[in-house]
Amino acid sequence: MAGSILLSSIAGAAEPITPFASIAALEAVKADAPLVSARALESVQSICKRISDKLASVAYQECASLNLQLSGHHSVDDIPLIVKEYPPLGKRVPQARILLVGGTHGDELAAISIVFKWMHTLEKHHSGLFHWRINPLMNPDGALRQKHRRTNANGVDLNRNFATPGSETDAALEYWRVKTRQNARRYPGPFPLSEPETNWLFEEIRDFNPDVVIAVHAPYSLVDYDAPDRKNAPRQIGHLYKNLMGTYPGSLGNYAGVHLGVPVVTLELPHAGIMPTQRQISRLWTDLVRWLVLNT
Ligand SMILES: [Zn+2]
Repeated sequence: MAGSILLSSIAGAAEPITPFASIAALEAVKADAPLVSARALESVQSICKRISDKLASVAYQECASLNLQLSGHHSVDDIPLIVKEYPPLGKRVPQARILLVGGTHGDELAAISIVFKWMHTLEKHHSGLFHWRINPLMNPDGALRQKHRRTNANGVDLNRNFATPGSETDAALEYWRVKTRQNARRYPGPFPLSEPETNWLFEEIRDFNPDVVIAVHAPYSLVDYDAPDRKNAPRQIGHLYKNLMGTYPGSLGNYAGVHLGVPVVTLELPHAGIMPTQRQISRLWTDLVRWLVLNT
């Protein structure tokens, strides 16, 4: 059973769109699925193994049953960057396209695990209301190493590596030197988009053209919101309350929210290494979807 689901899931990766809402649907199309390369199979299997070895709250089968796809992009350490799409269903036109990103900082493990929990919610309940594209783990190099860390394998803070206004004058490097006193955890990289992980997200945003980006972090216990007009900022999402932080040179919120005008909702969970309760996980999701319904 497990093997067949995994096989069909990788077969789906070869197609541009996989309109599967459930395992049952996956099984139904399995017979027609094309053969897949052993390398592709190995890649998704092995990253699920590594994720489940690292994250106590994500079991191997929980990852492997998700029909995750290879994006074709890899981290600095050559780990595949994985995606999951919940596409339009039938004739229903989605209200909006939503890009959900977890694990930008490798030491915020709860911000990865919770995205897996929400993907399983979508497995059961995806209705086509929104078109979702999900990257549960943007920074596998930081998260999956023995001693996980914030930055990628090049020591770059991916949330400071985007091309934001002032890039041409090295604003991010200048900010890092002067304001953070060269804090190694916040190194923006030698130049904007120097890292494969940020290049991947840059292309995702360009190609998927989301109406809203949701980024999950920890441990500041708040909801942040970057957009040209911040009056629609969520006041409360689950147990997290609005607390608008500044924008930083090179951050995703600055790039997408301010520069591109695509609102970015940032959820900062209270703990990097402790998962919210089941009830909190559910409430975060329902509040998030409710906000999306009202604001897209
Ligand atoms: Zn973070």
